[in-house]
Amino acid sequence: MKTYRLASREEHPDDTIIKIGERLTVGGRELLVIAGPCAVEGRELYLEAAELVKAGGAHMLRGGAYKPRTSPYSFAGLAQEGLEILREASRNTGLPIVTEVMDARELPLVCQYADVLQVGSRNMQNYTLLKEVGKTNKPVLLKRGFAATILEWLLAAEYILAAGNSQVILCERGIRTFETYTRNTIDLGAVVAVKELSHLPVIVDPSHGTGRASMVAPIARAAIAAGADGIVVEVHQNPTEALSDGFQSLTPTCFSHMIDELRLVAEAVGRVLPTY
Ligand code: PEP
Ligand code: MN
Repeated sequence: MKTYRLASREEHPDDTIIKIGERLTVGGRELLVIAGPCAVEGRELYLEAAELVKAGGAHMLRGGAYKPRTSPYSFAGLAQEGLEILREASRNTGLPIVTEVMDARELPLVCQYADVLQVGSRNMQNYTLLKEVGKTNKPVLLKRGFAATILEWLLAAEYILAAGNSQVILCERGIRTFETYTRNTIDLGAVVAVKELSHLPVIVDPSHGTGRASMVAPIARAAIAAGADGIVVEVHQNPTEALSDGFQSLTPTCFSHMIDELRLVAEAVGRVLPTY
């Protein structure tokens, strides 16, 4: 028996389709596009970004209110104020939001605002957090640890499933290798492997997966062609001024072009990018 019994396709041959908000699903024929800035930097900027990504074809908003930064001196997010801005953007646009929860102590607060809880790459093996998000009734976007094998990633999902929450969306976001040109090495083979091994939906993050804006659209196209159930992309109105991850952020115009291309790729592989 597989150690990740609940996550395995043997146990559950059909694809799991997860419902998000009133009208979105992930894991079925319809692809999910999540977009927004890396971090919520301020109210005006975020509310405008939300309108722009919606106009460009996003189905759901992203944005960090709690940011795991490598340096303790970097911008770490607006915390509750950021959550409030996310909620306001969701109300304005009608799009659900996903945001990262970094610590089990912040989970009750984040749950009051988020439609989907994000567990970040650095926390993929925070088993206390995994068990706690597993006790909620919110879908969980589980990013792959940057040094995690596919087995470790599926076992992290298993923690959430075993705690009672069956709504796990996996996210490939690149792993650390000897290569330094790209920020991470995106592992599209892992998307194919996870689809074989598990019934859970899997999306791709070409922003963190490459660290370079110029590479985001080509990798997004490849991800959809390889069978990913969606993408999560960083978009900023003024990437050079972004407080985090500007180098990998698309402008709203580039984002909207990318979505037009993805529609064609989706169709070629029997999927659909819904427009609302
Ligand atoms: C993010 O999506 O904001 C993020 C911090 O990504 P990761 O956990 O994959 O580094
Ligand atoms: Mn980021």
